[in-house]
Amino acid sequence: QKERVYNFSAGPSMLPLEVMEQAAEQLTNYNGCGMSVMEMSHRSAEFEEILHSAEKNLRDIMNIPDNYKVMFLQGGATLQFSMIPINLLRKSKKADYIITGAWAKKAYEEAQKFGEIKAVASSEESNFTYIPEVKKEEFTPDADYVHITLNNTIYGTRYPYIPDTGDIPLVADLSSCILSDEVDVSKFGLIYAGAQKNIGPAGVVIVIIRDDLIGFAPKNAPIYLDYKIHVNNESMYNTPPTFGIYMAGEIFKHIKNLGGVPALERINRQKAKKLYDYIDNSKLYSCPVEVQDRSLMNVVFITGDETLDKKFTKEAKAAGLHNLGGHRSIGGMRASIYNAMPMSGVDTLIAFMKKFEAENS
Ligand code: PMP
Repeated sequence: QKERVYNFSAGPSMLPLEVMEQAAEQLTNYNGCGMSVMEMSHRSAEFEEILHSAEKNLRDIMNIPDNYKVMFLQGGATLQFSMIPINLLRKSKKADYIITGAWAKKAYEEAQKFGEIKAVASSEESNFTYIPEVKKEEFTPDADYVHITLNNTIYGTRYPYIPDTGDIPLVADLSSCILSDEVDVSKFGLIYAGAQKNIGPAGVVIVIIRDDLIGFAPKNAPIYLDYKIHVNNESMYNTPPTFGIYMAGEIFKHIKNLGGVPALERINRQKAKKLYDYIDNSKLYSCPVEVQDRSLMNVVFITGDETLDKKFTKEAKAAGLHNLGGHRSIGGMRASIYNAMPMSGVDTLIAFMKKFEAENS
C-alpha cells in the first residue's frame, strides 16, 4: 500500500502529515546540527531548547496558568493511575472516583492500593453509555482529590460539564481529548494525558499539576514516582523520551499555526456533528450514547447485528478506512476522529456507510 489511509484508530492514531514530513526531512540532521534528535544528548543545548519550547508552546495553547507545572514523563497514562494516589493522598488518604469506563475503573482499582478510595458514581450498569451527574455535596468532604476521566475512549462519552468539587482538587485523565477543545486548566488540580492520540507518538505522558499539590509523595516512594523530583529537574531527572517530546513540540507549534485549540474545536465539532447526524438519521446504524454526553473524538456506533458489524469493519478497511472496529471489550464500531483526522476522512466514511447501508438492507 503506497497511499496513506484514513486511520480511525483510537490510539496510537493519525498525526498531522505536514509535521511528520517535516520531521522526516530533519530525521538524520536536525536543523543542520549534524545529528538526529534521536542521537542527541538530552543535556545538549539543542535538546534543552526543544524541551523548553515544547513546554512553552503547550502552555500557550492550553493557557496554563503560571502556578501550574508541566512534566513530560514516561509510563503512559497507566503509570499516572499509580502516581496520582501516591502523590496526592496527602492528608485524609481518601479519594473519590467517578467510574465512566474501563480506564476510569482501572485508575480507581489501582488507587485502592494506597488509600480509602470511593466510587461516588458509576454508569457501568448501562455499559457506560452516559456520564453520571455528581453534585458537590456527594463528594467525601475531606477527600484529598476527586478523579474523573474526561473523555472515555472506549465508550465514546465525554463530560458535558466539569464537576464542581469545591475545594477538593479535581484530577482528570484527558488522554483522548487533550487539545481537541478548550479546557479551563484552572478548574483542575492535576491533568494528565498519554501522547498517542492528539499529541504525538506513544511514549510520552504529559502531567500538568497545580504547584500546591507537589511534594507529598511518601519518603519510601520509588524516586521516579515522585512528582517533586520531575518538577525540580524540569523533566530531566533521567533521560526523557527525547524524540517523543520533539514530535509533541512540533505538533504544539502546528496547532498554534492552525489558530490554536479554539480553531481545532470548531472543526472537531463540525466533524462530529456530521457523523452523529448521519448515524441518528440512518435506518441501519445507531449510537448507544446519550446525546448530551457524546464524545467529539470517539464516535461509537452499531448496526445491532454483530456479523454485520464485522462485515462493515472488513469492507471499510478494503475501502481505505482503517481501524473502525470497536474496542475488543465491546465490539461494534468506533471512529476515532482526533485532531489529525481531516474532514475529508469523515466525508469518505459517511459515503462508505451510505453505500454499505444500501447494500445491506
Ligand atoms: N486513559 C484513557 C482515557 C485512555 O484512552 C487510555 C489508552 N487508550 C489510557 C488511559 C491508558 O493509556 P496508556 O496506554 O498510555 O497507559
